[in-house]
Amino acid sequence: MSKEFIPPAKPIIGDEERAAVDEVLRSGMVAQGPQVAAFEKEFSGHMVSGRECVAVNSGTSGLHLGLLAAGIGPGDEVIVPSFTFAATGNSVALTGATPVFADIELDYFCLDPKSVEAAITDKTKAIMPVHLYGHPANMPALKEIADKHGLMLFEDAAQAHNASLNGEKVGTFGTFAMFSLYPTKNMTSGEGGMVSCADEEIARRVRLLRNQGMERQYANELVGLNNRMTDIHASIGRVQLTKVDAWTEKRQSNAAFLNENLEGVIVPPVAAGAVHVYHQYTIRVDGQDRDAFVTALKDEYQVGSGVYYPIPNHRLESLTHFAPGLDLPVTEEAAKSVISLPVHPSLTDEHLDRIVEAVNAVAKAGA
Ligand SMILES: *Cc1c(COP(=O)(O)O)cnc(C)c1O
Repeated sequence: MSKEFIPPAKPIIGDEERAAVDEVLRSGMVAQGPQVAAFEKEFSGHMVSGRECVAVNSGTSGLHLGLLAAGIGPGDEVIVPSFTFAATGNSVALTGATPVFADIELDYFCLDPKSVEAAITDKTKAIMPVHLYGHPANMPALKEIADKHGLMLFEDAAQAHNASLNGEKVGTFGTFAMFSLYPTKNMTSGEGGMVSCADEEIARRVRLLRNQGMERQYANELVGLNNRMTDIHASIGRVQLTKVDAWTEKRQSNAAFLNENLEGVIVPPVAAGAVHVYHQYTIRVDGQDRDAFVTALKDEYQVGSGVYYPIPNHRLESLTHFAPGLDLPVTEEAAKSVISLPVHPSLTDEHLDRIVEAVNAVAKAGA
């Protein structure tokens, strides 16, 4: 009687990935080498229209090094959303700069340009939007604000592989952009991150920073870290890159089915000109107890779901000192009403039907 649990996310690792790893292990050369170089080139061509890419050991490292390469440091302010994973604000704080949290638009869950403009001070150096859940942020409006105030624009594209806006891929707008390759993201290398760079100088500095500040051995030019990707991880990423387009299409068709069939909840709209890649398929429940909704989906229908993110960054114990007393009403509204339903490419027709049945029944019962 009890049905199989539908997990909210499911990384797909196939025989090709296993074979690629085995080949690297057998070669005896496992640290950063030819696999990383090939992965960077392939990712660049596939994902960001040929922009130079630098691979690192995590998405968080990618943000951190991108910010350092762009010259962000103590005394600077970078405007970020609060409604995101903590890595966004953390990476700014780790450079010694101050994350300044702006509000979002409730429809798309991405930075609200009006709130961004209101947050600008004479210390502001950059705006770093997040393409949250795989929906592109409003880059034209943010670019206009950045240009008007002489600010840089960065992109947290951790969740947005293959997303685009007006035909331009995310990851091609900012001075740098970061893609995460964590297992639950739209493609993975095990752990890892890819930094897409607007010019050769940014790319060179990210390469230096990931490797103790040296391009040539023992000729260290600046203080850097060891944030290198291994060839083992790169070999997984290279295989995943050949599969991510088909997975993206399956995410999009799953989302279309849910859009068509869900009732009694607010389904996620897509902005004009935007291609959403549904890292998460995030609904909102209005006037219902969100946590009770999540529990009912799981207990009564074995439908897993996630809440991203229940506590906005500006209220996290670790970051709240940057924003004492800050009120972000739309962020608060999202944080208490969002539920991310399974949308991953492994869902079957039975899963999709069960998700619809579950959500519609729980919404109706609670209405
Ligand atoms: C996953 C994620 C990160 C961090 O990526 P890691 O690879 O986990 O370090 C940063 N920002 C957002 C929005 C993310 O979802």
